[in-house]
Amino acid sequence: MPPDDLLERVVNLCKRRGFVFPSAEIYGGFRSTYDYGPLGVLALRNVKDAWWRSMVQLRDEVVGIDAAILTSPKVLEASGHLTNFTDPLVDCRNCKERWRADDVAEACPNCGSTDLTQPRPFNTMFKTHAGPVEDEGAEVYLRPETAQGMFLDFASVLQTTRKRPPFGIAQIGKSFRNEITPGNFVFRTREFEQMEMEYFVPPAEANTWFEYWCAERMAWYQSLGIPEDRLRLREHDKEELSHYSARTADVELAFPWGWGELEGSGNRTDYDLKAHSAASGERLEYFEPSTGERYVPYVIEPAAGATRAMMAFLLAAYDEDEVGGEHRTVLRLNRRISPYAVTVLPLSKKETLTPVARKVLALCQPHFMCDYDETQSIGRRYRRQDEIGTPYCVTVDFATLDDMAVTIRERDSTDQVRVPIDGLVEELRARLPLT
Ligand code: ATP
Repeated sequence: MPPDDLLERVVNLCKRRGFVFPSAEIYGGFRSTYDYGPLGVLALRNVKDAWWRSMVQLRDEVVGIDAAILTSPKVLEASGHLTNFTDPLVDCRNCKERWRADDVAEACPNCGSTDLTQPRPFNTMFKTHAGPVEDEGAEVYLRPETAQGMFLDFASVLQTTRKRPPFGIAQIGKSFRNEITPGNFVFRTREFEQMEMEYFVPPAEANTWFEYWCAERMAWYQSLGIPEDRLRLREHDKEELSHYSARTADVELAFPWGWGELEGSGNRTDYDLKAHSAASGERLEYFEPSTGERYVPYVIEPAAGATRAMMAFLLAAYDEDEVGGEHRTVLRLNRRISPYAVTVLPLSKKETLTPVARKVLALCQPHFMCDYDETQSIGRRYRRQDEIGTPYCVTVDFATLDDMAVTIRERDSTDQVRVPIDGLVEELRARLPLT
């Protein structure tokens, strides 16, 4: 059973060990923004790489793009975001705090007052200006989702790749939403990273592909270590659907505060391509040369948050147990996600061991993300690596000087095996993912 204060423990660990820091902390922090530290940047990159691997690398019908963040109002007008990308906002007349209506049951969470305004729509897009003149003509938006890039580049991708439906365009990148109430650590922030894929299909096949992607995405989280009983798929009822969606289902995780969305898969129909086609005057459709058929594909979209997923993996991996009568904290992270794959540890800081340990490190570095630690007792160093989820420690001891062998210690079982330095990389390779 996870501890009652799991969130607090994970947040503390993230700060203490350098996964996530409050941004601009020397100025007292800045409005729920966060920085990813030396370990967080590795874990987050691993989450994104694991997604890219499953969505792009292992498929021949999905390609990637990296589109601009600064977005023309024309795009967001056509997509409907200027009018519809809103959250319901309520004001507390007593303490003047503002809340997203779904977060307020009956009373204001800050002061308990029930003297609240009626909800009104609040557009959550960030607006700024491009160029030196700050008039209306210079207005630009920070994209609120990466998806629009895929619709804008649809025709160029079709033309340059000669793909035919069903095919997908994937993208990982930052999105920005002026959330009324950010919170729960990096679960909801105003600047975050998304991993989205738009899958273009013949309209008649949309339902089948929608169900296919819902199942695929559930399986992805499980394959990376989130237990099945902490995940569920929840389909939206009609009132909950976004303005562009015919069907949406969320992969939800049992977060410490209850079920919460990890990602959503939607059937966006031909809404976006038609809207951009009408507004731009460009034909956004697929022409099948073999039949002469022309149609606007439907779009199935699995849309995930990278930062939110990283938090989910950390929460699911957090554990405490006892090893040899000693208490330890261990992140049982999947090997694809843990910041370091291997840490090289000389048994002591003695001069005779350091050159060999450094040689072992240099052998491993081209293949795996490695850490090197030579301070404190070996037991303490194992604990430190367990706490950040490193799956394998490689220890160089005095016997190494004679037999040119090292000890591999596995994180979860703490089992140890001795292997010759010559075969070390192969041995680790057999245990660790290559990409
Ligand atoms: P919510 O209902 O939580 O506001 P949403 O349904 O608006 O989310 P989508 O537009 O479907 O979210 O975005 C896809 C994914 O992007 C979400 O499932 C989530 O993982 C991530 N995401 C969305 N908003 C945020 C945010 N403010 N901070 C971090 N991640 C976010």
